[in-house]
Amino acid sequence: MADRWVLVGGGVAGSVVAARLAAVGADVILLEQGVDGATPDDLHEAAQVPGRTMPGMRAQRVDDGPYVPYTSGSGLGGGSSINPGFASNAGPFHHSHQLPIEGQGRRQRVRQQGSRASVSDVYLRNSGLLDRIEVRTEATVDQVVVEDGQARGVALSESGVIEAHQVVMCAGALVSPAMLMRSGVVSAGLGSRLQDHPSVALRYRNNEGLPSATCDVERSGAIQIMTTVVGDEIWVVPALMRPSSLGVIELDENGNADIRFQLCQAEAERALLADAVANLVAANAHRESIDAPEVDEVSDWMMHQVASVTPVYSHATGGCPMGAVTDRCGRVNDVAGLFVVDSSVFPAVPSVNPMVPTVQLAETITNRWLAEGLVAN
Ligand SMILES: Cc1cc2nc3c(=O)[nH]c(=O)nc-3n(C[C@H](O)[C@H](O)[C@H](O)COP(=O)(O)OP(=O)(O)OC[C@H]3O[C@@H](n4cnc5c(N)ncnc54)[C@H](O)[C@@H]3O)c2cc1C
Repeated sequence: MADRWVLVGGGVAGSVVAARLAAVGADVILLEQGVDGATPDDLHEAAQVPGRTMPGMRAQRVDDGPYVPYTSGSGLGGGSSINPGFASNAGPFHHSHQLPIEGQGRRQRVRQQGSRASVSDVYLRNSGLLDRIEVRTEATVDQVVVEDGQARGVALSESGVIEAHQVVMCAGALVSPAMLMRSGVVSAGLGSRLQDHPSVALRYRNNEGLPSATCDVERSGAIQIMTTVVGDEIWVVPALMRPSSLGVIELDENGNADIRFQLCQAEAERALLADAVANLVAANAHRESIDAPEVDEVSDWMMHQVASVTPVYSHATGGCPMGAVTDRCGRVNDVAGLFVVDSSVFPAVPSVNPMVPTVQLAETITNRWLAEGLVAN
């Protein structure tokens, strides 16, 4: 009998891994907590669909700050089903991927014939490979079953155990590390190197009639600036794309993930972002402000926003860093048959939008599996 692969999470990386395994005839079960189905083309609508965001996700953004809601994608496609698909890092690529990219320069986005396309649309649905795997949506995995240093399968929250020869964690940076801990995996570095791109939103009244589909990105050094329309507001969002601060994920006394990003610890990080905010305040002085600082309060306003407002950018990475928790194939150290392939294995957050790099990572790791003969069909 062929090895059975169970994948936990059908988001960005999970869709790629499932497709690559299905293409060579592997026996694959994909377990996804959220829903299946087409996602609306309108971004703001997409994030409102029940089962398209992770429920109850909260994180502490800065040391001693409050725990605030954090937006994370769910359902087939994961983050790609609710994100704008910015791919300003696109081409020339060092690693392959199959995502359709439209637009020029910084405006490059993952789109197919002018419409949004999630990674599961591209890799599974439109490729015909969806029919070759067993997909179970609205299936929440509680933990990996590990016995005598070997992964044996996964336990679902509501309905028993699914046995497997190989378990692949693709549940994203905020879930995979905590689930490994809950499963009894002990590894130096597990839960470490959590990162995100700190961002703040300057909000202005849309008195100039910018169209609701406006979604522009520009870049200056380590700062990326997105301009978008939300309802009747214009949001100008600078983000620090090369942060140095490192956060952690641990388990609290109830076994739930305690997510602490510990952003902007370094004076240099704060100075870079504050400088960008100050420049944008000046550049947008002609607009009617809803929430933007006065020139003399930029630093305090910025740190308050970073600490206490749900960020526009949800670019979490780390927690299962490759080299510490996994090897180059995503194999978890000291647990046979257990892999992590998602944004949690990045040892450092990419300095660009992370979705395309996550797809490339999944392509790279699955190429290594094939090269090493790990996938038997
Ligand atoms: C609002 C928003 C905007 C973004 N904008 C961009 C952008 O423009 N460009 C860009 O490059 N990146 C963007 N990103 C980031 C990008 O989407 C993520 O980096 C990417 O989705 C990470 O991929 P992943 O496979 O690690 O995790 P995900 O895509 O999040 O997939 C994880 C999957 O695991 C599932 N899961 C979690 N727990 C369980 C469980 N217990 N059992 C079963 N399934 C589970 C989840 O439901 C989810 O589907 C954005 C993200 C968000 C949320």
